[in-house]
Amino acid sequence: MEDRKTMSAGVFKKVGGNLEIVKMSIPKPKQGWVRIKVHYCGVCHSDNSCKYGILKNEYPRVSGHEVLGEIEKLGDGVDPIKFKIGHLVGVGWNGGNHCGSCRECLNNNRLFCKNSLITGISIDGGYAEYIVVPSDALAFIPEGMNAEETAPLLCAGVTVYCSLKNQNFKKGSLVGVLGIGGLGHLAIQFCKKMGYEVIAMSRGNSKEKTSRELGASHFVDIAKEGWVEQMKQIGSVECILLTAPFPHLVQPSLEALGVNGKLLLLCIIPEPFFADSLTMILGNKSIVSWYVGNSNDIQDTLDFAHKNHIKPIIQTFPLQAVNEVLDKINEANFRSVIKIL
Ligand SMILES: [Zn+2]
Ligand SMILES: [Zn+2]
Repeated sequence: MEDRKTMSAGVFKKVGGNLEIVKMSIPKPKQGWVRIKVHYCGVCHSDNSCKYGILKNEYPRVSGHEVLGEIEKLGDGVDPIKFKIGHLVGVGWNGGNHCGSCRECLNNNRLFCKNSLITGISIDGGYAEYIVVPSDALAFIPEGMNAEETAPLLCAGVTVYCSLKNQNFKKGSLVGVLGIGGLGHLAIQFCKKMGYEVIAMSRGNSKEKTSRELGASHFVDIAKEGWVEQMKQIGSVECILLTAPFPHLVQPSLEALGVNGKLLLLCIIPEPFFADSLTMILGNKSIVSWYVGNSNDIQDTLDFAHKNHIKPIIQTFPLQAVNEVLDKINEANFRSVIKIL
């Protein structure tokens, strides 16, 4: 077999630059790390964090954090029974490396361990033929799950599922999904399969048919006057998942919530927003947020999605198309996946 030393990888070289495809050395797995031969990498809005240096990453950096591939080489000390060569695995935003002994690790918040790595930010990501990550970053792809369709679940999927699971809403709760794009179309499916009654919320009615097919029982056009009243008439809304980064939607969403309702922020709103405290206090309402998940959370998400036939709507592109896909990500109604292998 050919003993290759270099691979193709998509890297950001400077703040604001485009992703450039370059040849670089195939990385070696350190002690406790694993090398993965990448099959697919999903394109996520957060790739722009690397592009624009929002999290102060170093350059050049291989971006991409919805990485799906097969275990190809083990570093020293990695359990060969648990991590078998050829196993299909996924890596999300959290690049593992938790210490296990700090306050956050001991409180089951290992995502916030100061040693935790971020895939495609503090270590090279998945727009490359190979990636190396600590073994604690890996989740196993359930048998029979379609690899290509699984990639977007590694970041978008886990964010939606974990954010909801940790709120402990009762089955039958009325949950609104605001923004039916890459995150929202997955949120409708997770909400429905978790037993909630779903209100899809979007501008215009072009997303109504798809939303209902994905499991929404109601559709509210938020471009129309009176949508807040319409929400209230449907019932007492327990939660609205904000998946569209528009600051002006925060206050009306709070008004649309029922008593004890929660506005769940799942996207970064790029500017400060207004929230009226009286609206909140007079209804015990709150604004909560959620930050992805670790590899155990990803495993739970994949198992739940597989069991419940949750699938993203995807379009697949070659690595050369990443820049174009990222430029249009805000308009996309689906998740994009880059085929690497
Ligand atoms: Zn992401
Ligand atoms: Zn720790």
